[in-house]
Amino acid sequence: MSRAFLDKVTHFAKGRVAPEAAAWSIGAAPEPALYQEAAALGLLGMELPKARGGQGVDFATRVAACEIMAGADFGFAMSLVNTHNIALRLCEEGQVAAVEQPLAALLSGQMHACTALTEPGTGSDFAAIRTTARQVDGGWLLDGEKSWIINGRQAGLAVVYAQCAEIGDSSGIGAFVVDLTVPGVTRYAIDSAFAQTSLGTGGFHLDGVKLPQEAMISAPGTAFKAILQEINAARTYVAAMCDGMLQAALDSAAAYGAQRLSFGKPLNQIPRWHAEFDAAERALTQARDVTRHAVAQVSQGADAQLAAAEAKIGSVTCAQTHLPRLLQLMGAEGLRPEHPFTRHIAAAQIAGFTDGATNILKDRVARLTARKET
Ligand SMILES: Cc1cc2nc3c(=O)[nH]c(=O)nc-3n(C[C@H](O)[C@H](O)[C@H](O)COP(=O)(O)OP(=O)(O)OC[C@H]3O[C@@H](n4cnc5c(N)ncnc54)[C@H](O)[C@@H]3O)c2cc1C
Repeated sequence: MSRAFLDKVTHFAKGRVAPEAAAWSIGAAPEPALYQEAAALGLLGMELPKARGGQGVDFATRVAACEIMAGADFGFAMSLVNTHNIALRLCEEGQVAAVEQPLAALLSGQMHACTALTEPGTGSDFAAIRTTARQVDGGWLLDGEKSWIINGRQAGLAVVYAQCAEIGDSSGIGAFVVDLTVPGVTRYAIDSAFAQTSLGTGGFHLDGVKLPQEAMISAPGTAFKAILQEINAARTYVAAMCDGMLQAALDSAAAYGAQRLSFGKPLNQIPRWHAEFDAAERALTQARDVTRHAVAQVSQGADAQLAAAEAKIGSVTCAQTHLPRLLQLMGAEGLRPEHPFTRHIAAAQIAGFTDGATNILKDRVARLTARKET
């Protein structure tokens, strides 16, 4: 793990992001300059090799950075890591000359990027996507719609999953690099009461979008398998991000509980208050152990399906359970946007959908555990 890098990330998260994030729960969006500061720190190129403009840190460091950033704001952290993931993918799979320009824009924080699987008609059942890619003279023609996409409202670039064969055939799905500024693409924002501004949640229509032959970054037969592989890493860092949000809420509650007097004594000396706080702390310790195991599995290149699913279920559920209880310990003060509780409660609910919804993962864990036992 790169301690020096993580120290800089902590300084940025606490000093720059957390104070700005208060406004994001009441409608404002992050300033573009903040993405550029994140870029200058190396957050958009964490796992890319130094020779390609990255930081060259390991997976465990990326997870730790995501955890720290989510403690300040889950949405901003997710927005950054989604752009990072596309930069990494271009670096690993794209043809060097073709990706040089977009890579520079992504790493400098000038351009956002997204991974687009979900559609209005399908989420969990990814094999049922209806966006199509048709081979035409000199390239591909894309038609369809993607929705509920992190960075979807402002991304300049997307990796779009599309069906190249019959609808429902998972082996027919390919992945394409799409410039979202070309004719035929119409982007839109998705807003909800659960703050979406720092996530940049949105979608886009693709109406006869013409792509060159080399835009296909994963061919049918490999794209579906590749996403299932990648998703173990994503589940692991989302677990860590939930741990980071709960830690931030514990820190805020601890500080407030030490100084707020009720019936003549600090809140943290009231047994019931203390018991709830301790329960959250113990639950976080357990969740972190499971997350650490998933980080080790992914880092070693082992089969991380079970470990990553267990980590995500555990940490998401832990955050969803204890964040509202910690808000309760704060009294009305906890509702103020300068505290993280309301943003983190919304984010923990969102984390329960992204990269595999909790119920789907529970079924997956049951199946994998049964297979292990036979
Ligand atoms: C804020 C936000 C950001 C997102 N960002 C992205 C992104 O960047 N890229 C992207 O591609 N997608 C993204 N998503 C979409 C996310 O991946 C989907 O929400 C998720 O896959 C679930 O799909 P769905 O919402 O369509 O729910 P559905 O698939 O319709 O499921 C609805 C509910 O039923 C349950 N369910 C469905 N089928 C089963 C089953 N067989 N067994 C048990 N339970 C089941 C699910 O667990 C869920 O609780 C984002 C979503 C949100 C909310």
